[in-house]
Amino acid sequence: MAATGRVIPHGRPRVAIAGLGIESSTFSPARTEAAAFHPVRGEEILHRYDTFLGPGSHLREAAEWHPALVGKALPGGIVTAEAFAALTDEIIDRLAAMPPVDGLWYDIHGAMTVEGVEDAELVLLRRIRAVVGPEVLISTTMDLHGNVSRELAHLTDLITCFRMAPHEDELETKERGVRNLVDRLHSGAGRPLKAWIPVPVLLPGEKTSTRIDPAKRVYAEVYDAAAQPGVLDAALWVGYPWADEARNRAVTVVTGDDEHAVVAQAERIARSFWEAAPDFAFVGPTATLAEAVEAALGSARRPFFISDSGDNPTAGGSGDVTWTLARLLADPEVTDPARTVIYASIPGPAAVDAAVAAGVGSTVTVTAGAAVDAVHEGPVTFTGVVHAIRHGDRDAETEVVIRVGGLHVIVTGLRKPYHLERDFTELDLRPRAADIVIVKIGYLEPELHDMAADWILALTPGGVDQDILRLGHRRIRRPMVPFDPPTFDPDLSARLIPASTDALEGPDE
Ligand SMILES: [Zn+2]
Repeated sequence: MAATGRVIPHGRPRVAIAGLGIESSTFSPARTEAAAFHPVRGEEILHRYDTFLGPGSHLREAAEWHPALVGKALPGGIVTAEAFAALTDEIIDRLAAMPPVDGLWYDIHGAMTVEGVEDAELVLLRRIRAVVGPEVLISTTMDLHGNVSRELAHLTDLITCFRMAPHEDELETKERGVRNLVDRLHSGAGRPLKAWIPVPVLLPGEKTSTRIDPAKRVYAEVYDAAAQPGVLDAALWVGYPWADEARNRAVTVVTGDDEHAVVAQAERIARSFWEAAPDFAFVGPTATLAEAVEAALGSARRPFFISDSGDNPTAGGSGDVTWTLARLLADPEVTDPARTVIYASIPGPAAVDAAVAAGVGSTVTVTAGAAVDAVHEGPVTFTGVVHAIRHGDRDAETEVVIRVGGLHVIVTGLRKPYHLERDFTELDLRPRAADIVIVKIGYLEPELHDMAADWILALTPGGVDQDILRLGHRRIRRPMVPFDPPTFDPDLSARLIPASTDALEGPDE
């Protein structure tokens, strides 16, 4: 049974909030600095969660809130050691300056990779435990693309993650994690039990949309497990494949007060995910870039979209890999002035400056890309006519379009995702009337999906290469599907996590 909770001596429980969220690719040379986390401090943090922690809401009133620091960065490269140290030091200083708290909400993503640090979210949690004390109840909320080592599950009392990808249940998940924490503090029920099971499978997000099987049916089991008597919460992490640590793999954790129930439900979810492992596949058609371009050129369906998926900046790519653009520029079929082809996009501040100086209608020769990620191809140089110039974008700052024959290349000051139709029309481009549109993206975002008459996800190289077998992982545990065939027999029995923060014995498996 769970330990008996301590009595809250001051009426409403005091609850602190802290956390850092990013998914950072080990396979991109890009680096993430502290400012990229846009750290929010103190009371301002509560505004982020207005839907369930707004003034007058039940949860807001049910506790005394002590927000410390929460930072959330766009996906990117590995976090620098200095950035991690500065942000964690500030979190610890702020927690140390608070009155003693009863609970803490640890709001993280779970796929943060930091230079020279193993299991970064655990390292931060250890420091948090050291300052708030072993008795404080901690509830952790995560992205299902995060990673959960046994020790991370152990040092937190409640732990859960999204059950939907795309993450339509992000706020609902956070609310559930906070509500369970506050309820637990009020009831005095203390620490629940947790059953943790690693599943030796590591998959890219583009194979695990919960809108379709097999992820849909596996996650249906998670909802069902969470509804069983004696179970407080159930969660399944598919993990993050673009980092290379021993913790990167799928994990399930079921939390509750009935040992038999949490064990049975965790084993059921783990078994269901493992048995589905051979069935996970890309939802849409995939091909090499050459095959995708050939198919697009030969198709009558317009516009034909191609995802340059290996450098998707919203998954952790640097956004400045030139491999695809170099091949498009070298293909006379693609630059044929009889066609309209759009490429979005490549960062190139010097190229933007040159185009702005020359003006619309001028011919310029520019060099762009590969300032950050030159692993696969160096900067590209090309000559074309300046088609459009736009200033003041919040991500790109300045964007220009340089037309090489029929190929319209969008060049940006800073990296920018192109997800909306107006991202193109504001640059005097008409993607609906184009023949082919190539975008650095994975699955098409809704507006692009709606206008695409056809689409192929090109398996291009970059920091978030969807073909994870060619990335060269060395530190993940083996055997691991799909790095090894699913012909082995993993231990899918529940590992009970004791309801105490005393050090765990034995290896993390
Ligand atoms: Zn995610």
